[in-house]
Amino acid sequence: MNLSPAFPTPILDAVNGPYWQALAAGELTFQRCEQCHHAWLPPRTECPRCLSDRPVWEQASGAARLVSWVVYHKAFNPAFADRLPYNVAVVELAEGPRLISNLVGCEDESTLRIDLALSFETRNEHGTTIPVFRPRSV
Ligand SMILES: [Zn+2]
Repeated sequence: MNLSPAFPTPILDAVNGPYWQALAAGELTFQRCEQCHHAWLPPRTECPRCLSDRPVWEQASGAARLVSWVVYHKAFNPAFADRLPYNVAVVELAEGPRLISNLVGCEDESTLRIDLALSFETRNEHGTTIPVFRPRSV
């Protein structure tokens, strides 16, 4: 009997499909407003600043900075119990959009600090390519 809990996966639709498809190809993309040039994530149909309904997709450089993070020592979703402790981070891309992600390559959390320079990479989670970020070596 398989007692492992279902791992949460994204539900692709016409709005977020291009984002997940680009990730599967190893590219991180975000939306930018044709009218006011504001950039954002996650994908949506209207610009959150001016409500224009003409967003365009743009590829991120992969450079980012650490805005905030937390280390989970309790699995609020049982699907994550086998990876405790794990981090969840707010990351800001060089182009402006922020996203919730995970940090890799930094098992010693004492090395984390606000504004830490990060680089995008991908990780496969149960068949879905997700964005993760690694501290940039200096
Ligand atoms: Zn706009």
